[in-house]
Amino acid sequence: MNTLDHFIFRSSELFLLNDNTLPGSVPPEFAEKELDRFSFRTDGRPALAVSLEAGPPESFPACEAGYWIALRAVFASMDPALAKVGPGAARALGLANWHKETRFCPRCGFRLEDHATETARHCESCGNLVFPRLSPAIITLVRKDDTILLARHANRNTNVWACIAGYLEHGESLEDCVKREVLEETGLTVGKIRYAGSQSWPFPDQFMVAFYAEWVSGEIKVDPAEIAEARWFPRDDLPATPPPGSVAWGLIQSAIRGQDRLDCPESERFVLTPRT
Ligand SMILES: [Zn+2]
Repeated sequence: MNTLDHFIFRSSELFLLNDNTLPGSVPPEFAEKELDRFSFRTDGRPALAVSLEAGPPESFPACEAGYWIALRAVFASMDPALAKVGPGAARALGLANWHKETRFCPRCGFRLEDHATETARHCESCGNLVFPRLSPAIITLVRKDDTILLARHANRNTNVWACIAGYLEHGESLEDCVKREVLEETGLTVGKIRYAGSQSWPFPDQFMVAFYAEWVSGEIKVDPAEIAEARWFPRDDLPATPPPGSVAWGLIQSAIRGQDRLDCPESERFVLTPRT
Protein backbone atom coordinates (compact mmCIF):
# COMPACT_ATOMS: atom_id res chain seq x y z
CA MET A 1 0.00 0.00 0.00
CA ASN A 2 2.87 2.36 0.77
CA THR A 3 4.78 1.96 -2.47
CA LEU A 4 6.02 5.10 -4.21
CA ASP A 5 3.99 5.94 -7.31
CA HIS A 6 6.27 5.90 -10.36
CA PHE A 7 5.22 8.10 -13.29
CA ILE A 8 7.35 6.56 -16.07
CA PHE A 9 7.48 8.43 -19.37
CA ARG A 10 8.70 7.58 -22.83
CA SER A 11 8.44 10.98 -24.50
CA SER A 12 4.85 11.99 -23.57
CA GLU A 13 3.58 8.43 -23.16
CA LEU A 14 2.93 7.11 -19.65
CA PHE A 15 3.50 3.53 -18.54
CA LEU A 16 0.56 2.05 -16.62
CA LEU A 17 0.01 -1.39 -15.14
CA ASN A 18 -2.69 -3.46 -16.81
CA ASP A 19 -5.21 -2.48 -14.12
CA ASN A 20 -4.67 1.22 -15.02
CA THR A 21 -2.71 2.00 -11.87
CA LEU A 22 0.82 3.35 -11.51
CA PRO A 23 3.74 0.97 -10.99
CA GLY A 24 5.64 1.06 -7.70
CA SER A 25 9.02 0.64 -9.39
CA VAL A 26 10.67 0.79 -12.80
CA PRO A 27 10.11 -2.62 -14.46
CA PRO A 28 13.47 -4.38 -14.91
CA GLU A 29 12.85 -4.53 -18.69
CA PHE A 30 13.24 -0.74 -18.83
CA ALA A 31 16.26 -0.36 -16.54
CA GLU A 32 18.71 0.29 -19.36
CA LYS A 33 16.44 2.90 -20.93
CA GLU A 34 16.31 5.21 -17.91
CA LEU A 35 17.63 8.73 -18.52
CA ASP A 36 16.55 10.75 -15.54
CA ARG A 37 14.43 10.68 -12.37
CA PHE A 38 13.02 13.33 -10.07
CA SER A 39 11.29 13.07 -6.66
CA PHE A 40 8.31 15.32 -6.14
CA ARG A 41 5.02 15.46 -4.28
CA THR A 42 1.58 15.17 -5.77
CA ASP A 43 -1.72 15.10 -3.93
CA GLY A 44 0.23 15.39 -0.68
CA ARG A 45 2.28 12.24 -1.28
CA PRO A 46 5.82 11.63 -2.50
CA ALA A 47 6.15 10.28 -6.04
CA LEU A 48 8.81 9.77 -8.66
CA ALA A 49 8.91 11.01 -12.26
CA VAL A 50 11.11 8.84 -14.45
CA SER A 51 12.15 9.76 -18.01
CA LEU A 52 13.15 6.94 -20.31
CA GLU A 53 14.88 7.27 -23.66
CA ALA A 54 12.52 8.30 -26.43
CA GLY A 55 12.53 6.23 -29.61
CA PRO A 56 10.30 4.18 -31.85
CA PRO A 57 8.02 1.75 -29.94
CA GLU A 58 9.55 -1.24 -31.77
CA SER A 59 12.96 -0.39 -30.27
CA PHE A 60 11.51 -0.70 -26.80
CA PRO A 61 11.60 -3.85 -24.64
CA ALA A 62 8.19 -5.44 -24.11
CA CYS A 63 6.79 -5.51 -20.59
CA GLU A 64 3.81 -7.74 -19.93
CA ALA A 65 2.95 -6.04 -16.63
CA GLY A 66 1.55 -2.98 -18.36
CA TYR A 67 1.16 -0.78 -21.41
CA TRP A 68 2.00 2.66 -22.82
CA ILE A 69 -0.65 5.32 -23.20
CA ALA A 70 -0.36 8.87 -24.59
CA LEU A 71 -0.89 11.33 -21.76
CA ARG A 72 -3.39 13.20 -23.97
CA ALA A 73 -5.45 9.98 -24.04
CA VAL A 74 -5.33 9.84 -20.24
CA PHE A 75 -6.72 13.39 -20.09
CA ALA A 76 -9.46 12.45 -22.55
CA SER A 77 -10.46 9.21 -20.86
CA MET A 78 -13.70 8.79 -18.93
CA ASP A 79 -12.28 5.75 -17.11
CA PRO A 80 -12.30 6.59 -13.36
CA ALA A 81 -8.92 4.90 -12.78
CA LEU A 82 -7.31 6.98 -15.53
CA ALA A 83 -9.07 10.13 -14.32
CA LYS A 84 -7.41 9.54 -10.96
CA VAL A 85 -3.96 9.32 -12.55
CA GLY A 86 -4.37 12.38 -14.84
CA PRO A 87 -3.55 15.38 -12.61
CA GLY A 88 -0.49 13.72 -11.03
CA ALA A 89 0.71 12.62 -14.46
CA ALA A 90 0.37 16.18 -15.82
CA ARG A 91 2.49 17.42 -12.94
CA ALA A 92 4.97 14.58 -13.32
CA LEU A 93 5.51 15.10 -17.06
CA GLY A 94 5.92 18.88 -16.70
CA LEU A 95 8.49 18.36 -13.93
CA ALA A 96 10.23 15.52 -15.79
CA ASN A 97 10.55 17.70 -18.93
CA TRP A 98 11.96 20.57 -16.86
CA HIS A 99 14.31 18.40 -14.79
CA LYS A 100 15.99 16.55 -17.62
CA GLU A 101 16.68 19.82 -19.46
CA THR A 102 17.75 21.90 -16.47
CA ARG A 103 21.15 20.48 -15.67
CA PHE A 104 23.36 23.56 -15.32
CA CYS A 105 23.02 26.82 -13.43
CA PRO A 106 21.79 29.55 -15.79
CA ARG A 107 23.73 32.11 -13.73
CA CYS A 108 27.20 30.51 -13.44
CA GLY A 109 27.11 27.27 -15.46
CA PHE A 110 27.84 24.94 -12.51
CA ARG A 111 26.07 21.56 -12.38
CA LEU A 112 22.74 21.73 -10.51
CA GLU A 113 21.63 19.38 -7.72
CA ASP A 114 18.09 18.62 -6.58
CA HIS A 115 17.10 20.70 -3.57
CA ALA A 116 16.49 18.68 -0.41
CA THR A 117 13.06 20.11 0.41
CA GLU A 118 11.90 22.46 -2.36
CA THR A 119 10.62 21.40 -5.78
CA ALA A 120 13.66 23.07 -7.29
CA ARG A 121 17.32 22.59 -8.23
CA HIS A 122 20.18 24.21 -6.39
CA CYS A 123 23.58 25.55 -7.45
CA GLU A 124 26.24 24.87 -4.81
CA SER A 125 28.64 27.27 -6.51
CA CYS A 126 26.62 30.50 -6.49
CA GLY A 127 23.59 29.60 -4.35
CA ASN A 128 21.10 30.02 -7.19
CA LEU A 129 17.77 28.20 -6.78
CA VAL A 130 16.19 27.17 -10.09
CA PHE A 131 12.45 26.50 -10.00
CA PRO A 132 10.39 24.53 -12.54
CA ARG A 133 9.45 26.53 -15.59
CA LEU A 134 5.84 27.02 -16.62
CA SER A 135 4.93 28.86 -19.82
CA PRO A 136 1.57 30.67 -19.57
CA ALA A 137 -0.46 30.89 -22.73
CA ILE A 138 -3.98 31.99 -23.62
CA ILE A 139 -6.50 30.15 -25.74
CA THR A 140 -9.66 31.92 -26.81
CA LEU A 141 -12.95 31.16 -28.47
CA VAL A 142 -14.00 34.24 -30.44
CA ARG A 143 -17.77 34.55 -31.02
CA LYS A 144 -19.73 36.66 -33.48
CA ASP A 145 -23.52 36.42 -33.55
CA ASP A 146 -24.33 32.73 -34.18
CA THR A 147 -20.83 31.77 -35.30
CA ILE A 148 -17.47 31.00 -33.72
CA LEU A 149 -13.98 31.57 -35.08
CA LEU A 150 -11.78 28.54 -35.73
CA ALA A 151 -8.41 28.38 -37.43
CA ARG A 152 -6.10 25.80 -38.95
CA HIS A 153 -2.46 26.20 -38.01
CA ALA A 154 0.12 26.62 -40.74
CA ASN A 155 2.74 24.35 -39.17
CA ARG A 156 1.16 21.78 -36.84
CA ASN A 157 -2.07 19.75 -36.70
CA THR A 158 -2.96 21.34 -40.02
CA ASN A 159 -6.07 19.18 -40.49
CA VAL A 160 -7.70 20.32 -37.24
CA TRP A 161 -9.62 23.58 -36.72
CA ALA A 162 -8.84 25.03 -33.31
CA CYS A 163 -9.17 28.16 -31.22
CA ILE A 164 -6.72 31.05 -31.33
CA ALA A 165 -3.85 30.58 -28.87
CA GLY A 166 -0.51 32.11 -28.01
CA TYR A 167 2.05 32.75 -25.29
CA LEU A 168 1.76 35.51 -22.74
CA GLU A 169 4.44 38.16 -23.12
CA HIS A 170 6.25 40.09 -20.39
CA GLY A 171 4.33 43.15 -19.25
CA GLU A 172 1.01 41.86 -20.58
CA SER A 173 -2.21 40.96 -18.80
CA LEU A 174 -3.99 37.80 -19.95
CA GLU A 175 -6.74 40.00 -21.44
CA ASP A 176 -4.15 42.06 -23.36
CA CYS A 177 -2.69 38.80 -24.63
CA VAL A 178 -6.09 37.60 -25.90
CA LYS A 179 -6.62 40.86 -27.80
CA ARG A 180 -3.10 40.88 -29.26
CA GLU A 181 -3.10 37.23 -30.37
CA VAL A 182 -6.51 37.50 -32.04
CA LEU A 183 -5.47 40.69 -33.84
CA GLU A 184 -2.04 39.38 -34.90
CA GLU A 185 -3.26 36.00 -36.11
CA THR A 186 -6.59 36.95 -37.71
CA GLY A 187 -6.76 40.76 -38.05
CA LEU A 188 -9.89 40.87 -35.85
CA THR A 189 -10.57 43.11 -32.87
CA VAL A 190 -12.30 41.67 -29.83
CA GLY A 191 -14.03 43.57 -27.02
CA LYS A 192 -15.56 41.88 -23.98
CA ILE A 193 -13.66 38.89 -22.64
CA ARG A 194 -14.71 36.27 -20.08
CA TYR A 195 -12.51 33.78 -18.26
CA ALA A 196 -13.51 30.21 -19.13
CA GLY A 197 -11.07 27.89 -17.35
CA SER A 198 -7.50 26.69 -17.28
CA GLN A 199 -5.43 23.58 -17.79
CA SER A 200 -1.89 22.44 -17.20
CA TRP A 201 -0.62 21.19 -20.58
CA PRO A 202 2.82 19.64 -20.10
CA PHE A 203 3.81 19.29 -23.79
CA PRO A 204 6.36 20.48 -22.72
CA ASP A 205 5.40 23.10 -20.11
CA GLN A 206 2.38 25.21 -21.05
CA PHE A 207 -0.25 26.51 -18.68
CA MET A 208 -3.32 27.29 -20.78
CA VAL A 209 -5.77 29.96 -19.65
CA ALA A 210 -8.99 29.88 -21.65
CA PHE A 211 -11.32 32.75 -22.50
CA TYR A 212 -14.39 33.64 -24.51
CA ALA A 213 -14.09 36.87 -26.48
CA GLU A 214 -16.68 38.90 -28.38
CA TRP A 215 -15.85 40.05 -31.92
CA VAL A 216 -16.09 43.82 -32.33
CA SER A 217 -14.68 44.72 -35.74
CA GLY A 218 -12.52 43.67 -38.66
CA GLU A 219 -12.49 41.11 -41.46
CA ILE A 220 -10.44 37.91 -41.29
CA LYS A 221 -6.91 38.42 -42.59
CA VAL A 222 -4.60 35.69 -41.29
CA ASP A 223 -0.92 35.85 -40.46
CA PRO A 224 0.30 33.15 -42.88
CA ALA A 225 3.37 32.39 -40.76
CA GLU A 226 1.04 31.08 -38.04
CA ILE A 227 -2.38 30.39 -39.53
CA ALA A 228 -3.22 28.61 -42.78
CA GLU A 229 -6.89 29.54 -42.72
CA ALA A 230 -9.46 31.02 -40.32
CA ARG A 231 -13.24 31.07 -40.70
CA TRP A 232 -16.49 31.74 -38.90
CA PHE A 233 -18.45 28.52 -38.36
CA PRO A 234 -22.06 28.04 -37.27
CA ARG A 235 -22.15 26.10 -34.00
CA ASP A 236 -24.18 23.27 -35.57
CA ASP A 237 -21.84 22.79 -38.52
CA LEU A 238 -18.28 22.53 -37.27
CA PRO A 239 -15.27 21.01 -39.05
CA ALA A 240 -12.75 18.58 -37.50
CA THR A 241 -11.80 20.03 -34.11
CA PRO A 242 -9.32 19.00 -31.36
CA PRO A 243 -10.04 15.69 -29.59
CA PRO A 244 -11.36 15.44 -26.01
CA GLY A 245 -8.90 16.06 -23.20
CA SER A 246 -7.75 19.54 -24.17
CA VAL A 247 -9.13 22.86 -23.02
CA ALA A 248 -9.71 23.69 -26.73
CA TRP A 249 -12.14 20.75 -26.88
CA GLY A 250 -13.93 22.09 -23.79
CA LEU A 251 -14.23 25.58 -25.27
CA ILE A 252 -15.74 24.24 -28.49
CA GLN A 253 -18.09 21.87 -26.61
CA SER A 254 -19.37 24.78 -24.57
CA ALA A 255 -20.01 26.73 -27.79
CA ILE A 256 -21.99 23.81 -29.26
CA ARG A 257 -24.15 23.89 -26.11
CA GLY A 258 -24.57 27.67 -26.29
CA GLN A 259 -22.71 28.16 -23.01
CA ASP A 260 -20.13 30.52 -24.49
CA ARG A 261 -22.30 33.63 -24.08
CA LEU A 262 -20.40 36.25 -22.15
CA ASP A 263 -23.45 36.77 -19.93
CA CYS A 264 -23.96 33.03 -19.33
CA PRO A 265 -24.93 32.61 -15.63
CA GLU A 266 -22.33 30.82 -13.56
CA SER A 267 -24.71 27.95 -12.78
CA GLU A 268 -25.12 27.17 -16.49
CA ARG A 269 -21.48 27.36 -17.47
CA PHE A 270 -19.68 24.41 -18.95
CA VAL A 271 -16.80 23.03 -16.87
CA LEU A 272 -13.92 22.88 -19.33
CA THR A 273 -11.62 20.65 -17.32
CA PRO A 274 -13.77 18.81 -14.80
CA ARG A 275 -10.85 17.26 -12.96
CA THR A 276 -9.19 20.52 -11.95
ZN1 LIG B 1 25.31 28.98 -10.10
